[in-house]
Amino acid sequence: MSFTIAIDGPAAAGKGTVSRAVAGHFGLAYLDTGLLYRVVGRKVLDGVEPVEAAQGLVAEDLRAEGLRGADVAQAASRVAAIPEVRAALVDFQRAFARRAGGAVLDGRDIGTVICPEAEAKLFVTASAEVRARRRWLELREAGSDVELEAVLADVHERDARDTERSEAPLRPADDAVVLDTSDLSIEEAVAQAVAAVNAARDAAPG
Ligand code: C5P
Repeated sequence: MSFTIAIDGPAAAGKGTVSRAVAGHFGLAYLDTGLLYRVVGRKVLDGVEPVEAAQGLVAEDLRAEGLRGADVAQAASRVAAIPEVRAALVDFQRAFARRAGGAVLDGRDIGTVICPEAEAKLFVTASAEVRARRRWLELREAGSDVELEAVLADVHERDARDTERSEAPLRPADDAVVLDTSDLSIEEAVAQAVAAVNAARDAAPG
């Protein structure tokens, strides 16, 4: 049986951590769909045309180094606003979602556009200030001396681009469970996500 879990939300809300833990808990494959847009963004920074980069994407590209940086994130959110880029990435994501045994996909439009029929949908969010502080602490731990204000500005900029674009804007699906992690530890957020998936599974027909 295939069971798809769609997990959406803004940058640095804890979505990746929650998604990986949920995939591990239920023994499902996991796809971070932000990586697809980051690969395209990376190639565009290298001079490739965006739609061409999206159409040529292969699974091995997701293992490339240097996809996590802020410059690539910004390039990703710019190419993500191009409808032809999004269209070129749909089949890859749907094929992953339908794999035997089931899958967890995290992103911005999984519950609304890519997998509207997903058996469980979560929208993981947190205030912009909390998200910026978490990202800032990560960056500092990695040796960066970036200012908190700069990280917050970056979060606001990407949020605005992701929520205001006309194609697949970031928003919770009508049937998504919203999980605000602002005041939750990682363990609490994961426990609530697992509980929400179990509730959706119990409610699913068959
Ligand atoms: O999640 P991550 O920060 O890696 O995503 C990078 C960018 O890719 C996001 O800011 C967003 O613009 C875009 N994205 C998207 N749809 C997805 C996943 C990511 O538009 N499903």
